[in-house]
Amino acid sequence: MFQRILSQPVNRLLILGMVLVALLPVSLVAFHLNQVAWENSWREIHEKHELLAENLAAPIKIYVDDHFASLSFLAETIKPQLSSQQSLQKTLDTAVGQLHGFSAIAFVNTAGKMQAYNIADDVILNRDTVSDFIFKNERCYLLVRQTETQYISGIKPSPFTLKPTIIMGVPLFDKQEKLVGVLLGELRVSLIEKLRKNIKFGKRGHSAIVDQNGRVIAHPNPEWMVEMKNLSSWPIIQAMKAGKHGVTEFYSSFVKQDMVAGYAAIPDIGWGVMVPQPKAEVIAQVDSFMFSNYLWGGVGLVIAIIFGIYVSSWITRPINRLATQSRLLLKNDLSGEIDFPADYEPREARQLGYVLKSLIRGLQHSRDEVHELNTNLQLKVKQATKQLRVANEKLEETVKSDFLTSLANRRYFEMDLLDVLSRRNQESNHISLLLFDIDNFKSINDQFGHAAGDEVLTQVARTLEKFMRAGDVVARYAGDEFVLRFNCDQRVALSRANQIRLAIEALQIHWRDQILKVTVSIGIFSDIINEQLDVKNVLHSVDIAMYEAKKRGRNCVKAFSGREVQSATVTDINSHSAYTD
Ligand code: GH3
Ligand code: MG
Repeated sequence: MFQRILSQPVNRLLILGMVLVALLPVSLVAFHLNQVAWENSWREIHEKHELLAENLAAPIKIYVDDHFASLSFLAETIKPQLSSQQSLQKTLDTAVGQLHGFSAIAFVNTAGKMQAYNIADDVILNRDTVSDFIFKNERCYLLVRQTETQYISGIKPSPFTLKPTIIMGVPLFDKQEKLVGVLLGELRVSLIEKLRKNIKFGKRGHSAIVDQNGRVIAHPNPEWMVEMKNLSSWPIIQAMKAGKHGVTEFYSSFVKQDMVAGYAAIPDIGWGVMVPQPKAEVIAQVDSFMFSNYLWGGVGLVIAIIFGIYVSSWITRPINRLATQSRLLLKNDLSGEIDFPADYEPREARQLGYVLKSLIRGLQHSRDEVHELNTNLQLKVKQATKQLRVANEKLEETVKSDFLTSLANRRYFEMDLLDVLSRRNQESNHISLLLFDIDNFKSINDQFGHAAGDEVLTQVARTLEKFMRAGDVVARYAGDEFVLRFNCDQRVALSRANQIRLAIEALQIHWRDQILKVTVSIGIFSDIINEQLDVKNVLHSVDIAMYEAKKRGRNCVKAFSGREVQSATVTDINSHSAYTD
């Protein structure tokens, strides 16, 4: 597998390598960024949500404190007027008109009787149903009377209107510091809701305010506000009730989603403020942040791939070109040139090109030398072949001829005879063999020297040649013996032999100051070619005839008579001049 990958072309490996090199850090960075994004988002949410919750809690606290202060101030104002019902009522009427935070203000004496009260005009109410003792059992009233300190209730139905309200109360003392009654004010929830509404973020991020009992004071869901929904079972509400602040996650049955919420408790009052946002929005924020990161990562990767393709092609293009050109050169018997890599191409490729170019030049040089050598060699071989042929021809000639007389030698003669005897079906099938032996040749050698003997042999050979006709063969048979083959019958052979004998007899051989003269004895064998004739027996027969001529006194011609060699008899035809042509 690894080997298979490594055997891929360099440009593919380079691109793969670059992609991997780019992908690895990009993936690590992306992973890291993802983590960082999540951490940052969470931290931001923590900070934002908690801050928002605390920022909302602070004005509510101020709002409540201010209204306590207003109520206390009003209590001090009405203290001297308690004896006058009319002026008390007048002061309360004025106060409700000016203190917009209160929807109603009432003074309830220690006996639980509502001595004076006023309800804002915008609050619809049937005043006839209002009892003097509606606050008698009101918890806020009872607690203030009991503890003689100010108190603020949770959300509850207004005794006047039964609509959700918050009742706050401050104690009133006479000059002896004895409690004379409680000044109660109903806080407008709409103003708290106004404060709450200011806190908005994201698409569905919102805020909510609950009282110390976990009931909704202000919430984006108006129904929950009307019914003062009890959320005390929610863990976040319990945490707020415990006076904590922070960030948590919970499932909102209102939004029907998992929420991330910052929360804070409003000190002293025990109320809680929470700022929830759907968790999906937070995830979407992170995803959008990550999307841009992924996008940049992808862009980086594409740039890396493009760069990889460019770099790999920059590296491999000149090498591939060199390889292709080299292949072409090899195919074309090294004829041509290779293009040297350009200056903008890699230095290694240029070095390779330089080496390759030198190598190819060297090869071209060697090829030219080899061509030249081949040409020379061919020429030399041609010359040598010619010389060899000439030498062979000479050798053949030498093999065939006798060195002294230049006539054919015995070997050639016998081969020729074998050939002739084997061609039996030819039309002209007469054959005559003549065997010449120089008479008393030894004495010439002895008397005049060997060189004189050689000269005699040469002159006799020249004389024999003169009598040759087409188809005849003459050869030096041995020492002073010559043999001739004629394609004629015995009669013609005898005649020609006699003519030759006479010519040799008449021959004057000049040797130094002397004239040498020789004669020859001739044996003849003639027959029609047939299967019983062979080289051995015909030569034997002609030898017998020649021997006979010697025996009969030399310088004569004798023919072998009869076809059977074994029963051969020699016929004395003529010793000197019996036959002529
Ligand atoms: P005959 O009449 O019986 O033939 O007597 P002859 O003296 O000629 O005897 P023969 O034919 O037996 O002798 C042949 C001699 O020829 C013997 C040898 O010394 C001589 N001879 C053979 N070859 C050569 C040669 O090449 N050159 C010379 N000069 N002499 C040769
Ligand atoms: Mg002899």
